[in-house]
Amino acid sequence: ALLVRRRLKSSRRWARAMAILKEFEDKCDTPIGKLRQVADAMTVEMHAGLASEGGSKLKMLISYVDNLPTGDEKGLFYALDLGGTNFRVLRVQLGGKEKRVIKQEFDEVSIPPHLMTGTSEGLFDFIAEALAKFVATEGEGFHPAPGRLRELGFTFSFPVWQTSIASGTLMKWTKGFSIEDAVDQDVVAELTKSVEKIGLDMRVTALVNDTIGTLAGGRYHNPDAIAAVILGTGTNAAYVERAHAIPKWHGLLPKSGEMVINMEWGNFRSSHLPLTEYDQALDAESLNPGDQIFEKIISGMYLGEIVRRVLLKMAEEAAFFGDTVPPKLKVPFILRTPDMSAMHHDSSLDLKIVGTKLKDILEISNTSLKVRKAVVALCDIVATRGARLSAAGILGVLKKLGRDTVKDGEKHKSVVAMDGGLFEHYTEFRVCMESTLYELLGDEVAEHISVEHSNDGSGIGAALLAASHSHYLGAEES
Ligand code: BGC
Ligand code: MG
Repeated sequence: ALLVRRRLKSSRRWARAMAILKEFEDKCDTPIGKLRQVADAMTVEMHAGLASEGGSKLKMLISYVDNLPTGDEKGLFYALDLGGTNFRVLRVQLGGKEKRVIKQEFDEVSIPPHLMTGTSEGLFDFIAEALAKFVATEGEGFHPAPGRLRELGFTFSFPVWQTSIASGTLMKWTKGFSIEDAVDQDVVAELTKSVEKIGLDMRVTALVNDTIGTLAGGRYHNPDAIAAVILGTGTNAAYVERAHAIPKWHGLLPKSGEMVINMEWGNFRSSHLPLTEYDQALDAESLNPGDQIFEKIISGMYLGEIVRRVLLKMAEEAAFFGDTVPPKLKVPFILRTPDMSAMHHDSSLDLKIVGTKLKDILEISNTSLKVRKAVVALCDIVATRGARLSAAGILGVLKKLGRDTVKDGEKHKSVVAMDGGLFEHYTEFRVCMESTLYELLGDEVAEHISVEHSNDGSGIGAALLAASHSHYLGAEES
C-alpha cells in the first residue's frame, strides 16, 4: 500500500511539473500572426527613433558611417573588438581591389570578470596592455607606413552616442558589464589615455558598434549587404538608411545620401512580446532592470538562465529532481547557453549529454530519460521563442527598407550579414530563425533575401572602416 501511495504521489508530482512546463510553453507561443505584430511594432519604433532623440525605446543611433567599404582599402590596420566575454585584437594588411586581404592575424584575450564591473581605467589599461603586446608581435607581411601612427578601428559593442566617426560617449552598459565611471565618458578618449600611458604609437580612427563592423565586413564581401544582425551574448541590428529619412539628423547631408544606423534593438519592447513571469524576475534581478527586454528573451547571455529559472520552479514546486531542490540550481547564470545548446542538440537515444550536463553543472545525478526529455523540451521552447522573435525583428527592418515585397520584374538582392555565437554555434536556433524568416517573407520575396554569416565581420569591418576613415587619406596627393 505504501508503494502504491508513493507511486501515486510521484505521478502527481510529474503531472504538476508538466503543467508548469506546459504553462510556460503556452506563454512563449509565437504564432505567425503575433510575429507580424512584433515586426510591425519594430517598424513603427524605428520611425519614432529616427524622428526625434529619445522618441522611442529604439535609440536608432547615428553612426557617422556614410560610406561602406568598397574593396579599395589599402594598408596596415588594427582593430579591437570589445563587447562580449572575450576581446579580440586583429591586424590586417589590405591590398586594394585586386589583392584584398593580403594577410591577417588575431589574438583573443578573455576579460577577467572583475574588470567588467570595476573602473574605466582598469578596463582600458588592461586592453591597451594587450594591444601593445599584440603590436609587438607584428612580423613579416605587415607594412606599417613609415612616419605614421598605426591606426585602429575600435569595435565597442554597447550603446554609444557618437559625436564623430572617432568619438562617442557611452550611454549605458549592457550584457555583463557595469563600470559606472565610464558612463557618459568618451570611450575613445578613455582608451587613448591608456594607450598613451604605455607609450603605444596608435590612434583610433573609427569607433564602431559590432553591428556596424559586421555590416562593413559583409559589404566588403558582398555589395548587396544592407543590414547586419548580431545574435550573440547580446543582440542588435544596423542597416543603411537614406539620410533624408532621418528627421533628427541636423548635420550636413552626406554625399552618399546614406547613413548607417545602429538600432540598439536589444532595448526594443512591445506589448506583443511574449513575456513570462521568469522573464520578469530575470529582468528585475539583472544589472540593468527595465532595459534590453528584447535582448533578455533572445540573446546568448540569457537563454540558459531562463532555462535554469524554469527548472528551479519545477524543482521547488513539483520536486522535479527529487525531494530536495538541487542547491546549484539556485545559482544565477550557472547554466550557460552553450551548455543549453549542447543539451538541446543531444541526439543520443538515452540523452547522455543531457545527463552529463545536469550532473556536471547542476550536480543532479541519475536523471531518468523522462526527465532528460523534459529538459530538452524546455530548451526547445526557450530557443524557439528567441529565434522566432529575432526573425520578426529582421522582418521589421526589411519592412522599413521596403524590402519585404518585390515589385514585378525587380531583381535586386538584399543580404543581411549575421554574426555572433548564437548564430554561429546554436544550430537549432539558427535554423529556426532562418526558416521563420522565410516563412514570414513568403517564397517569392524570400528568393531575394539572404542571410549570410559575416565571419569575424566586426573585427575586419572595424579595420576596413579605420582604413576608409584614415587620418592620412589623401596625404599622398596633397
Ligand atoms: C549592445 C549592442 C551590441 C549587442 C551585440 C547589446 O547588448 O547594446 O550595442 O551591438 O549587444 O553585441
Ligand atoms: Mg562579437
